[in-house]
Amino acid sequence: MLNLSVCKISGLKKKTSVLLVDNSGKDNQLIQIPTRLLLHWKKYLLVFNVLVILMFGILALIIYQKTSTHYKEKLAQANKVKSLIDLKKVKESFKEIDESIYRINGFLDARGLHDFKLANSGGEYEDFEITDINEISEYYENKIHKIENTLNITPLGLPVSGEISSEFGYRQNPFGAYSTEQHFGLDFRGKIGDPVRATAHGKVEFAGVKGGYGNCIIISHGNDLKTLFGHLSKINVKPGQHIKIGDYIGQIGNTGRSSGPHLHYEIIQNNKKVNPKQYLKL
Ligand SMILES: [Zn+2]
Repeated sequence: MLNLSVCKISGLKKKTSVLLVDNSGKDNQLIQIPTRLLLHWKKYLLVFNVLVILMFGILALIIYQKTSTHYKEKLAQANKVKSLIDLKKVKESFKEIDESIYRINGFLDARGLHDFKLANSGGEYEDFEITDINEISEYYENKIHKIENTLNITPLGLPVSGEISSEFGYRQNPFGAYSTEQHFGLDFRGKIGDPVRATAHGKVEFAGVKGGYGNCIIISHGNDLKTLFGHLSKINVKPGQHIKIGDYIGQIGNTGRSSGPHLHYEIIQNNKKVNPKQYLKL
């Protein structure tokens, strides 16, 4: 057991010595405590208590924030977004899209559609950060819409299901055994009454009899592109009518300067007749 013996000494440092007396008298210890502390211990205890309560309060607040549902939800959301977006992968995808657009440009170019060329395609966004993704998505959205609009008004594919029976270019005159003539379109085999379909969106510019073409339809697609359908047996459209791709516009016939039932199909670009074959496939 230790007995507590306090004796106050006054001096410059103002400390009080506390003598801890061992009952056996062997391990007595002298401890010096600042006198001010001994005199005003209630005040110091109060300050200490306030500090401890404050610390616990702050700790409790931190724990609450870290464990609250709102915080957990925000954290989960942030982690989810982080795990969903792999910037390297996104960059690779955008690069692929760029290259794809570049190739589509090539296809359009090969068809003489220089006006449709999509500016700045291929590597516009070579380096970017995750924060730029919204802006880049918008850029590609606009670009893809432009391609979509271009394809809508570009006559592509077949107007009928039949095979090609006569190519574009010089050919032997079907009406004169020993002469040649320039053939400004493609002829497709077919039976009278077979459906003829529009190859792009557009507006009917002409529908009626037109010289050697017989019953003829001309559709204007905008951007200086037109399609012409000749020798029809029936016309299903009227001038000024708006047409969509695949619309059933008429029937194969043998009218005008024709040597048998077939469709004569022309593509006119900037008032010049071009080989429709380059528009049959992408
Ligand atoms: Zn022809």
